[in-house]
Amino acid sequence: MRNMVIIGSGPAGLTAAVYAARANLQPLLIEGKEPGGQLTLTTLVENYPGFADGIMGPDLMDAMRKQAQRFGAELVNSHVHAVKLKEHPFRVYYGDQEVQTKTVVISTGSSAKLIGLETELQLMGHGVSTCATCDGFFYRGKEIAVVGGGDSAMEEATFLTKFATNVSVIHRRDVLRASKIMQDRAMKNPKIHFTYNTVVEEVLGTKQTGVTGLKLRNVRSRDLSELRVDGLFVAIGHNPNTEIFKGQIDLDERGYIKTQPDSTRTNIPGVFACGDVQDPVFRQAITAAGSGCMAAMEAERWLEH
Ligand code: NAP
Repeated sequence: MRNMVIIGSGPAGLTAAVYAARANLQPLLIEGKEPGGQLTLTTLVENYPGFADGIMGPDLMDAMRKQAQRFGAELVNSHVHAVKLKEHPFRVYYGDQEVQTKTVVISTGSSAKLIGLETELQLMGHGVSTCATCDGFFYRGKEIAVVGGGDSAMEEATFLTKFATNVSVIHRRDVLRASKIMQDRAMKNPKIHFTYNTVVEEVLGTKQTGVTGLKLRNVRSRDLSELRVDGLFVAIGHNPNTEIFKGQIDLDERGYIKTQPDSTRTNIPGVFACGDVQDPVFRQAITAAGSGCMAAMEAERWLEH
């Protein structure tokens, strides 16, 4: 029987682990498929307070992991595939293990959204990517398309110009959603070109050739065209990782876990949610870490009562 099981190892989960471990709760943290979470897919993090010159995302997560372990948190490199939250003690299933616990902290984060094309899935990892910082390096001297009109798309497009000769941003409307500063930066970059009112209908190529182009449709004229590119980066937002909690805990219409105002409490007493899995608004490492701290403190108080 555990006092606390933490599901997920991004800034939210690891901060919860630091606080819970320092409160002598000996938490068990199950890291998930992407240990360290989305920050391990980024390079320099410049806005995490305390690092005047910035810190590399993977290094920041490594430091958080060591900090949690120093105080006695137990980290397991496994993936939770089921939970039972309707009876107490709760049950959490990972690998071939089952653990019972008095409290659960959910910090499973979110994952990149896909356009939903068959050819996008087929060519994922063969020219289709959701992470410029992971895969940009493979596109030195090549032509790339980025789908999306938000800050992520602007950021990825700008980053990719370090490698690519040309980056086409394809956006489904005629107005970008991105913040003014990110738009300006992308628009000033001579390697970035914008195609508006346009969607990708098909990704062309095979696993052998990689991506060779895109079939595009102008949503106003309905005209079809082809764009020759070597890679497609999908940057259209994220989905919360809440599949295993469906039907057991209250989610909002987009699938994010509902937490009570100014709290990480969910509708189930003893279950707390923190980080991107319950935050469609801020989605920052520092806000995730802050809510991880809240979850651990609220769980500790709940256990005391
Ligand atoms: P987002 O703001 O939700 O933007 C998603 C973009 O993708 C929108 O332009 C949307 O089009 C488009 N889109 C969505 N589904 C699509 C589909 N099926 N096909 C084609 N296009 C589709 O997501 P985000 O850019 O990932 O940003 C999320 C949050 O993180 C924001 O709050 C953002 O400010 C923040 N962020 C900040 C930074 C930074 O400051 N450095 C970097 C990245 C993200 P519509 O515009 O038509 O809806």
